[in-house]
Parts: sequence; C-alpha cells; structure tokens
Amino acid sequence: MRVLITGAAGFLGSHLAERFLAEGHEVVGLDNFITGSPENIAQLLASEGFSFYRYDVTEFIYLAGELDGVLHFASPASPIDYLKLPIQTLKVGSLGTHKALGLAKDKGARFLLASSSEVYGDPTIHPQPESYWGNVNPVGPRGVYDEAKRFAEALTMAYHRYHGVDTRIVRIFNTFGPRMRQHDGRVVSNFIVQALHGEPLTIYGDGSQTRSFCYVDDLIEGIYRLFNADHSDPVNIGNPAEFTITQLAELVLELTGGTGGLEYRPLPEDDPKVRQPEIAVARELLGWEPKIELRQGLQKTIDYFSGIVKGGASC
Ligand code: UDP
Repeated sequence: MRVLITGAAGFLGSHLAERFLAEGHEVVGLDNFITGSPENIAQLLASEGFSFYRYDVTEFIYLAGELDGVLHFASPASPIDYLKLPIQTLKVGSLGTHKALGLAKDKGARFLLASSSEVYGDPTIHPQPESYWGNVNPVGPRGVYDEAKRFAEALTMAYHRYHGVDTRIVRIFNTFGPRMRQHDGRVVSNFIVQALHGEPLTIYGDGSQTRSFCYVDDLIEGIYRLFNADHSDPVNIGNPAEFTITQLAELVLELTGGTGGLEYRPLPEDDPKVRQPEIAVARELLGWEPKIELRQGLQKTIDYFSGIVKGGASC
C-alpha cells in the first residue's frame, strides 16, 4: 500500500509512519512543524519507502500517483498547544479534515481520522462507550479542540454516507511514550521531565481527577488493526486502567527517584474530572487490548527522557 499521513512529524504520526514502513508499505508524510519536529522523522527519512513534504494540510493537497490510504493525524493535541493555537486547531480539524477527505475521495483511498476522547468532554457517563454523545462546552477554552474533533467526525461520516468514502474513526485516549516533547505540557511528559530535573511535580487541582494512560506501541497496534478492519463507526482505543493524577505523580517519583515532591496549581477551566475508555468494541472487532502496563510504559518513557535531559536536547 501507499499511504499518506498528515502530522507525520508529530508524536503519534511518526510512530504510525514507522509502523506502516515496517509492514512494507510506502508512506508519504506531511507536516508543517507547528507542533511536530524534524527530529521525529530524522530516522524515517533514511527509509526508502518514506517521503516527506513540509506542508499545511488546511491548503488543497495535491499528490501525484495512486494512494491506498489517508490517515489524518495533524493537529495540536496538548491543551497548552491548542490554547496557544486555537485558530490553527480549529482549522486543521475542519479545513484540514476536508482537504484530507477530498484527497481520499479523489484517489479512492481509505480514510482514517485521528479523533479523541475529548469528543466526550467532561463525561457524565463513566467509563465512556462509543455510543456516548459527550458533554462539551463549545465556548470554553478546550472547545477549540473538542469541537474541531467533533466536526471532523461529522465530516468523515458525511463523506462516508454521501460520497461512499471508506472511512475509519479512532477515538484516542491519553497516550504517552517516546517522542513526546519535553515541554509538551501533557501530564506524563511534564511529570517525568520535572522529576528528572529534581523539580516538584505540578499537580493541577487536588490531583483526584482521573485519566487512563495508554503506551504508544499499544495504541499504534490498535490503530493499525482498525485501519485494516471493516468498520466505519468510531472506535475507542485506549488503556482502561484508570489512575488519579496523584497516583501517577507518586509512580513517577518512585520510578525516577525524584526528590522534588509535589506542587499544587489551579485546575485549568473545563478540565475533565474522569476519563476511562470502554474498549469492548476494540476487543471484539479487532481482537485488540493493551498489553503494556502503566509502570512498564513509564519506565520506557523515563529511559527516553533521561537520554534527552542528559544530552541537553531542547525538543
Ligand atoms: N495535569 C497536571 N499537571 C501537569 C499537567 C497536567 O496535574 O503538569 C493534569 C491536567 O489538569 C489533567 C490531567 O493532568 O487533569 C491530564 O492532562 P493532560 O494535559 O495530559 O491531558 P488531558 O487529558 O487533560 O487532555
């Protein structure tokens, strides 16, 4: 197959590109580097099957030749990024999804949308099954991401229903692992980098809010299977093991030997109180479930960040 991945220089996009290449497929990567980075694709550029274009996918996408898949992964994805880049976040979810779908339609390619557990907002149903419609504040600061993803899902289903495009939607829950940026702003990378510097871990609110963290390799396996399955409705991919943010902080301190303790900061507006994926659909449809426990995934991620912190790299 020959597939195009938008956001290929991002955390998830680069892992996904690596997986498609490892399976013997050809990958065309696009990224404008607003949150992605050239380091993430440095190794991939040496692969024969990989080509890359620095490109803003909110513009019309022209690509010569046949294409079997379009995987739309471009978007700021950390709350601090989409608060800093609200218009770009809305544009890549709306105009970017439109362009990526248009390309898939034109090429007769399968389309996969990287959606998010954020479509559930601050959920009133716990855990969250795909059938839950969510609880999103459209005009709050997180609305730019949540509504962009919700619009992107609606547009994807419209192209599926009205243009017959073969589509997939993955709702990605909190994912972590190597290639997150040091200053990404998300909780796992923040805590690990703070601990490695001997700084206090910054807990927003009282730390009782929960998240369910999936190691990146498990997530990519689930997405790869979904792409190859026959199912157009959204599918949750995430690790249902749920932790409070305080529990996560304690585990990071234990694994790193961090001595800086904890520091409490105000809870950001509309921060979801709980989040946990219901993954019965992924289990039945894809025979998928996560294999890497939080402790094990954190250790791999700590090893990765230790190298970066010691090396003084700035990504
Ligand atoms: N959080 C925290 N300290 C940090 C960064 C985040 O306590 O340094 C909290 C944040 O308020 C949220 C949870 O950790 O409740 C997960 O935040 P993240 O930004 O990783 O992702 P989200 O699930 O909110 O999109």
